[in-house]
Amino acid sequence: MIVAHLDLDAFFAAVEELETPELRGVPLVVGGDPHGRGVVATANYVARTFGIRSAMSCAEALRRCPEVTFVRPRMQLYREYSREVWTTVREVVPTVEQAGIDEGYLDLGQVAPAFDDARALADAVRAVIRARTRLSCSLGVASSKVVAKIASDRRKPGGLTAVRPGSEASFLAPFALRVLPGVGPRAEERLTAAGLETIGDLAALDDQTLRALLPGKVGALLRDRARGVDPRPLEVSTERISISQEETFARDVGDLERLHDELRQMAIRLAELLREREQTARTVTTKLRYPDFSIRTRSTSLPVGIDDAERIGELACSLLDRALKDRPGPLRLVGVGVSGLTEHAQLQLTV
Ligand SMILES: [Mg+2]
Repeated sequence: MIVAHLDLDAFFAAVEELETPELRGVPLVVGGDPHGRGVVATANYVARTFGIRSAMSCAEALRRCPEVTFVRPRMQLYREYSREVWTTVREVVPTVEQAGIDEGYLDLGQVAPAFDDARALADAVRAVIRARTRLSCSLGVASSKVVAKIASDRRKPGGLTAVRPGSEASFLAPFALRVLPGVGPRAEERLTAAGLETIGDLAALDDQTLRALLPGKVGALLRDRARGVDPRPLEVSTERISISQEETFARDVGDLERLHDELRQMAIRLAELLREREQTARTVTTKLRYPDFSIRTRSTSLPVGIDDAERIGELACSLLDRALKDRPGPLRLVGVGVSGLTEHAQLQLTV
């Protein structure tokens, strides 16, 4: 496997700079209210020179740099840029695991089996993203996801770091333990307490010491990763683009109250599914089947995603009313579907 990890540089801030040229070159934070409890979603590179970082409170950012400009996140806009980026990437490398709005893994080996060619391909991806969207990204090229991910962070912004097969362990060795994906604060604390400092220290642990420090499978998994061994394949998106509920009646139903009631119940279930999946929906569709089996659908789209049962139910019912106006019931079946699914904004506040 030859994989690239692609990470857009200071993505939200970079989009704001493209949209508002006056923001270029000044310290900029995309985030919440600096006079309230807001946090930094993304700081541009000028702001970072003042020590401003993601997840820091905006109040602290303001202390570190009183002249910093704050702007609120515009997720819909970032999604549009992101869609453009990933569409562009897939034209060059078809197999992509999108791991977030601004990062993902590319199966380079599928297109370019030789390492040097794969590296050149990663360079081409970077250039085409720049040309098409004017956004900058950083890439790591390696034989596994864990190494590629660490490599992409080495030469930000705009850099490419390639780790040749066979040199994974020596590449990883000098980095601090917390750089290794999977090493959380608790594991780091235990390892540090035992005198370990680097990924190389973890890679060198013998079985017995490892078991004592990190019992169970976690220890072995992290030591493998520390050695650059990571068998995880790319998870190519199979996410469903819509979810729906429907009900076929034992006997055709013409009573509007009853039909509304059915739709509202389905809306409750859909809202639950959306929340489980941490998604919102922009489009609601009501489906009707008449006794002669013919089908009508009516849809409506919203400017922002929703996930609440009442709103979905309300829209579904008014769509039903419209359809029944065109062609009155009774009905053999009603259904509601939601599509235009997106992630919740707060999950995407990544660097
Ligand atoms: Mg990023």
